[in-house]
Amino acid sequence: MTSGAAQSLVDRLYAAFNDPGILGLGGTDEDAVMQALSEAKAKNLMHEVDALYNSRYAEKELNLKDELDDELSGEDFDKAMRLYNDGMAAPQEATASGRKVAVHGTMAPRASVDVRTFFDNIIIDWENSEHKLNGDQERTDISKESWENAVWDVLDFLYNKSPFETARAILDAIKNSGKKLTIFVEEFAFVNPNSHAFPTDPATATRNGGTPEGETPGTGGGAGGGSDSVIRFTPQDWEVESSSASIKARDETLLHELFHAMRQMRGLEDEVTITAPFDTMNRGEGTDTELIVNGSSLNGEAPEKENPHREHYGTQEEFFSVVLTNIHRSEKGRAGVKRDHVGDTMLVPPMSNAANFASTWKPQLHYLCEDMPDVCRRVAGALGNFNPIFELYRLEGRYPAGAARNAPTAS
Ligand SMILES: [Zn+2]
Repeated sequence: MTSGAAQSLVDRLYAAFNDPGILGLGGTDEDAVMQALSEAKAKNLMHEVDALYNSRYAEKELNLKDELDDELSGEDFDKAMRLYNDGMAAPQEATASGRKVAVHGTMAPRASVDVRTFFDNIIIDWENSEHKLNGDQERTDISKESWENAVWDVLDFLYNKSPFETARAILDAIKNSGKKLTIFVEEFAFVNPNSHAFPTDPATATRNGGTPEGETPGTGGGAGGGSDSVIRFTPQDWEVESSSASIKARDETLLHELFHAMRQMRGLEDEVTITAPFDTMNRGEGTDTELIVNGSSLNGEAPEKENPHREHYGTQEEFFSVVLTNIHRSEKGRAGVKRDHVGDTMLVPPMSNAANFASTWKPQLHYLCEDMPDVCRRVAGALGNFNPIFELYRLEGRYPAGAARNAPTAS
């Protein structure tokens, strides 16, 4: 039950963000925003106002915290975030229905959605998956219904199970991309499970002038604009989500592919080789598979190539996806983070320290955040032991002194 007082504050905030101004040019009435926030805090209505604002304007993709971030700057922004965070941190009374709203710290509770209707551009398609079209690889170990339900369950976990800053940033970008994402069964899964994301149109999935995936870096051919994307994924091949899950968890596997799909849908991919800045971090030349087979300590063939500090991502796109998935993993409170894109080993000190990681990979992380400021700004607010995006923002002085860690300044 929302109180009339909260409803009136939401009306005032919306009007203040959309002030027509004297000349009718539009803008934000900062004083009116501050006044409404002060009242919300004084009356301990911030939770109610936040939840109501976000649900009322969900269709417009508006969110109170993002609006404050987008519309205010400098001292106004600092003051607004203090009011907002203090209001959100205040203990809550029992609600009218008798249910306690359990919220601590500065993270806003945000309403759950029904992922099956919310993501109207995600299609889960058993019938047209290759395992159906290619008879000898048809999967008989799972049913259509169990597979479909399991895929939706992973999407539901990613979007609705708090904390979800990283996953929501990626999934919202997919929802708002204007492109379609189809999820098919991954068929080659019985021995060595894998998953994939690929665009239906490699040229438009790639930035203008960039190089499509799989082509020789630097050869060009990208047109930009964005492409529909396809992911092949079978949840049943992966570990069930839990706080002790390994890096083979279902949600981490799917999020890695969702990140690739999102870059394709936005037309931002680019095949660029990435090499670690220090020699001790390099793992040699070769594809991921060659390095797993020939360069791993698993078979002892080339032990001199194995070194716990080596990080091999192959391409920039894989680096980005591994980093973002690691931030999600850390946000979920799971132990350790994935070392690179080769095999299943974990990052070790000193690089498992996010500040060290961010300063070492600063140019690449900076590129990513310039490329997708909306996504990175949200991911920077993810709370966990490993958040190199937050550390990058800190290194670049993009947090006002004393501000909450989830309140970066403008991107
Ligand atoms: Zn990948």
